Amino acid sequence: MTGSTLAPFTADDYRARMDRAARAAADAGLAGLLVAPGPDLVWLTGYAPTAATERLTLLVLAQGRAPVLVVPTLEAPDAAEAAGAPALNLRDWTDGKDPYAATAALLDVSGRFGISDNAWAMHLLGLQRALPGTSYASLTEALPMLRAVKDAAELDLMAAAGAAADATFEEIRKVPFAGRKESAVGADLADLLRKFGHSQVDFTIVASGPNGANPHHEVGDRVIERGDMVVLDFGGLKDGYGSDTSRTVHVGEPTDEERRVHDLVREAQEAGFRAVRPGVACQEVDRAARAVIDDAGYGEYFIHRTGHGIGVTTHEPPYMIEGEQQPLVPGMCFSVEPGVYLPGRFGVRIEDIVTVTADGGRRLNNTDREMVIVD
Ligand code: ZN
Ligand code: ZN
Ligand code: ZN
Repeated sequence: MTGSTLAPFTADDYRARMDRAARAAADAGLAGLLVAPGPDLVWLTGYAPTAATERLTLLVLAQGRAPVLVVPTLEAPDAAEAAGAPALNLRDWTDGKDPYAATAALLDVSGRFGISDNAWAMHLLGLQRALPGTSYASLTEALPMLRAVKDAAELDLMAAAGAAADATFEEIRKVPFAGRKESAVGADLADLLRKFGHSQVDFTIVASGPNGANPHHEVGDRVIERGDMVVLDFGGLKDGYGSDTSRTVHVGEPTDEERRVHDLVREAQEAGFRAVRPGVACQEVDRAARAVIDDAGYGEYFIHRTGHGIGVTTHEPPYMIEGEQQPLVPGMCFSVEPGVYLPGRFGVRIEDIVTVTADGGRRLNNTDREMVIVD
């Protein structure tokens, strides 16, 4: 992914994001932020190096100073093409020079900096060596909500990614399931996500029969049979923003119990969705969905949190989990995805991405939540 795939964003948008990030860092008591290649750098600058190399690339943000991107000389022309490049100063370093000394010259000799979770350990160790007066904190832990609230243009991209995932489900429900391996249906899902505009497929879960009881099962060699419940959970990035949706389908006519468990998860998903409105703590979304499953006696079979944030990655804060007090804010986007997993038998999960509106929530996935029968 290069800056050009995030076409709607201008240098001014990136300047505003970098200003906001530097201000948030100062408010959190940090001297600044050090941002390595990855989702934070893409969001802040539109820059994603074509190949992640061992050479140091690092965005240095501090309130009251112009942002600086430290880049290897041979990658500087690429960095200069990024949509956010006009909003920052490029400082390149050539092979044989010490990139940590170059970075150290830009920083105060002391202070606590937030650093990207995905920065390489060798780079952090190099900075510590060059700047013994500094200390470091996880950027994501220090500023978990930095990317959480989406603006109008981001919400349009999130909605388009959701619509593409929905189009994928509308096609996959028509393909044959019985007699095919999970991996074959998974390949169909990946093809469809790309057909509907995804540049990156992050996961294509096809968990049939007893495999559905394992929420981490992806795809395997199991041949899908008539009578199987099949959990489908798929998503990735379209134009730089994420999709993630689950539907559980049944091959042929379901039993009464399968229908009952599916209805229960659908009610729990609805309850989680209805709990969404500004000011409500994230944990209330989890509690609302979980209460429905608990009350039906299936609480011990709902073995994961109810949801996770999504944006330029498919899993990020905020998390819909007991203990998360963060209040919901309009523009946040996250999944509501309760499930019931009956060991050795089958599982059901239903997942939509939801965005917080002024007075409630809006689903970005809108395919049938009733049980879909496939062949
Ligand atoms: Zn069945
Ligand atoms: Zn999912
Ligand atoms: Zn999810």
